[in-house]
Amino acid sequence: NLYNMVQDLKGNIRVYCRIRPLFGSETKGVIDFIGDDDSLVVVDPVKPQKDGRKVFQFNRVFGPTATQDDVFADTRPLIRSVMDGYNVCIFAYGQTGSGKTHTMSGPSIGSTRELGINYLALQDLFQLSAKRKDIMKYDMQVQMVEIYNEQFHNLENLTIIKLEIRSCLGEDNVALPDASMHHVMSTSDVIRLMKFGETNRAVGSTAINNRSSRSHSVLTIHVNGEDVSGGRIHSCLHLVDLAGSERVDKSEVTGEGLKETQYINKSLSSLGDVIMALAQKNSHVPYRNSKLTLLLQSSLGGHAKTLMFAHVSPEGDSFGETISTLKFAQRVS
Ligand code: ADP
Ligand code: MG
Repeated sequence: NLYNMVQDLKGNIRVYCRIRPLFGSETKGVIDFIGDDDSLVVVDPVKPQKDGRKVFQFNRVFGPTATQDDVFADTRPLIRSVMDGYNVCIFAYGQTGSGKTHTMSGPSIGSTRELGINYLALQDLFQLSAKRKDIMKYDMQVQMVEIYNEQFHNLENLTIIKLEIRSCLGEDNVALPDASMHHVMSTSDVIRLMKFGETNRAVGSTAINNRSSRSHSVLTIHVNGEDVSGGRIHSCLHLVDLAGSERVDKSEVTGEGLKETQYINKSLSSLGDVIMALAQKNSHVPYRNSKLTLLLQSSLGGHAKTLMFAHVSPEGDSFGETISTLKFAQRVS
């Protein structure tokens, strides 16, 4: 199919940037989104003249007025390739408050408006499966886990679970056998399940420890398909809402907070290293440096497809974090 050919020519790693709207109470914006769909300009509030303006380019840039449907329109081909047997990873990267959860899940727990990629993806997979029912029988199962302090947690009950690595024919197979696996048949099954996971994630947090911004949440959709002649496919779609990428001043945190910060920095930089090694076609890809990259190794590289959303906030106070997010995203693209 044409999309897959185009993907192969461009490589299997894409980076999209999404700029969230400026809220009324926030300081003046620092992003000029010119309306080109692949670039943005960040303006240093201290020196807004020529040398304070930096241009960044990505495969696609979504401005503050882009809707969930606009974003999904450019994500859908990737989701669909899962049904043809490709493994796909979609990441939401950015500082806390930049719109990661908005893109992946939607505006808030309990809302059924403006649903994000997680829901739209499953809806699309169900539709495609119905459409192909005469040539292929599909079966979809979902796992929801969280990685917090380099440990896997089952989002169903917040218990700690282990990653299993099975080696066969020199190829590692990683799996989370203890994370609850749910058959899903309809979008309402999915909505119920995800709201449950989101609520649990919120419950796990306290006032001083906003857990959802300090952990990675990974929603995995396992797709099994069998065609009329008995041919089978098994593929995975991983939808990852990453921990906030903000640099925390290490001199200001101690104890638990410091450990959290170090784990987050380590796993985000490991993810960056892995994607960069793949983009440069290095022979060694350092999957083993973090739990996140270890879990996703069979879905990163090879024929797998990767999409990173770099989320930025347009407000003036976030200038430093915005630049650092865009630099990270530029490095892996
Ligand atoms: P993060 O998950 O990165 O911490 P959120 O997704 O929670 O950020 O976004 C922070 C706030 O901004 C939320 O209230 C969210 O609903 C709002 N928001 C984020 N992106 C958008 C957007 N594109 N359009 C409208 N509101 C948004
Ligand atoms: Mg969030």
